Amino acid sequence: NKSILFKNRPKGKPALSDFEITEIEKPSPKDGEILLKTKYISVDPYLRGRMRDEESYIPPFELNKPIESMLVAEVIESNNKDFKTEDVVSGMLKWELFQTHTGENLNKIDTNLAKPSAYLGILGLTGLTAHLALKHIGKPEKGETLVVSGAAGAVGSVAGQIGKIKGCRVVGIAGSDEKIDHIKEKFGYDEGINYKTTENMQKAIEKNCPDGVDVYFDNVGGETLDAVMMNINRFARIINCGAISIYNEKGVPTGPRLEGIMIKKSALMQGFLVRNHFDEFKSSIKELAGWLNEGKLKYDETIVKGFDETPQAFLDLFEGKNTGKMVVEI
Ligand code: NDP
Repeated sequence: NKSILFKNRPKGKPALSDFEITEIEKPSPKDGEILLKTKYISVDPYLRGRMRDEESYIPPFELNKPIESMLVAEVIESNNKDFKTEDVVSGMLKWELFQTHTGENLNKIDTNLAKPSAYLGILGLTGLTAHLALKHIGKPEKGETLVVSGAAGAVGSVAGQIGKIKGCRVVGIAGSDEKIDHIKEKFGYDEGINYKTTENMQKAIEKNCPDGVDVYFDNVGGETLDAVMMNINRFARIINCGAISIYNEKGVPTGPRLEGIMIKKSALMQGFLVRNHFDEFKSSIKELAGWLNEGKLKYDETIVKGFDETPQAFLDLFEGKNTGKMVVEI
């Protein structure tokens, strides 16, 4: 058995030396417990936040303890009447090859409906984030313009497609020309902007959004947020979903030029946290699965193979090496 421990709180960019892969004993399930074999591990940008020793909506990782994230695992032994061997579950679990669990807060997943890894992406927290943030904050209407940053990523690619389903003009921002071509071809984005090669983002957004921006789905924060803000329409809605461009900053980051714009445009900017909407997960997954089956929604996964590659897969999120959901297959 193996475990991946959190060894060091990074200052700035995280590195492989912040993790340690260690051999551990394979545990035996006690009465009421199950033994799980890990199948897929989700690596996510928000894990960077848990590496900081500060109060948040979820406690920070403890040094020398295993990292945890959403996993898909198979039940290989069961002393719990609610689970049988070969059940496949998803849940917040440790980065270990084998682990025991009480079963509490694990979801049995239907592998006939979609492949197991999809429950970490399109039918998991990232799909839910796109869907519920648009439902509660973005509220895109037919004919409006939706801008999505991190447009080729797990959350962004779903947000863009939901915008198309709702009848919006959708403009995506991503970090390579290949990603821009891809999101237009596969996900139906009307236009795309490569933020890495565009000198003046404010002008590029103005050009690609001739009617201004009604909804901004922000996954990156920082300078891109600033540039989009300069193009918002009256009554625009801005979803603060993530801010990956500043997650590795050491100091307190500078905010966008809010002064005046929010008031002049009577805009709404609201932070979104998918965890606040547990009660809607079931109905939201049903709607996402429906769109998937109708072919209205497509998804990408970047699958990295091998348990030991998990820390590197996490680091690669900050280099944009993924398209769609980054998942480690064991
Ligand atoms: P992604 O699949 O989008 O992967 C991260 C992507 O971010 C990379 O592929 C890269 O794409 C882009 N990126 C990396 N560094 C930078 C940078 N410096 N500036 C701009 N873009 C960068 O991850 P997720 O879909 O899982 O998450 C997207 C965002 O949503 C994150 O900010 C995350 O924290 C947030 N989130 C929030 C939730 C909530 O409840 N609020 C829930 C889930 C996610 P590129 O090549 O385009 O640069």
